[in-house]
Amino acid sequence: MKTCFCGSNLDYTQCCEPFHNGTQHALTAQILMRSRYSAYVLKNADYLLSTWYKSTRPKALDFSQENVTWKKLEILHTKKGGEKDDKGRVEFKAFYEQNGQTLVMHEISRFKKFGGKWFYVDGIVD
Ligand SMILES: [Zn+2]
Repeated sequence: MKTCFCGSNLDYTQCCEPFHNGTQHALTAQILMRSRYSAYVLKNADYLLSTWYKSTRPKALDFSQENVTWKKLEILHTKKGGEKDDKGRVEFKAFYEQNGQTLVMHEISRFKKFGGKWFYVDGIVD
C-alpha cells in the first residue's frame, strides 16, 4: 500500500495511477489537477504533456535539472469543472522543498474539456 501523492488518502493504485497509465480519464477538473500534481512528484512528463491543452502546451518538459521535491497538495477551492461542465478552475497550494527550504506555490489553474477529456490550460500564480 502506497498512499497517493495527491493527498487523497487513497492507495496510489486506486487513485492517480489509472490516469497515469491511461486506463482511466479524470472525470472532473479537480481529479485531473490531483493526477497532474502526482505526475509532477513522479516527474512523469508524458502524462503532464498529454493532459495539457494544445494551445498552451510546451513542446517538452525537462526535469533533469530540477531540484524541487514536491511535498503536499492542498486544494483550496474549485469552481465548476464537474462532469457536466466544460470549463473549470482549481485553486491550490503545492508545498515543495528546494535547496533546504520549504516553499509554497499558490496557483489558480484553468481547465477545459475537449473531446470529452479534461485538459490543463494555464494558471495564475499568486
Ligand atoms: Zn492521487
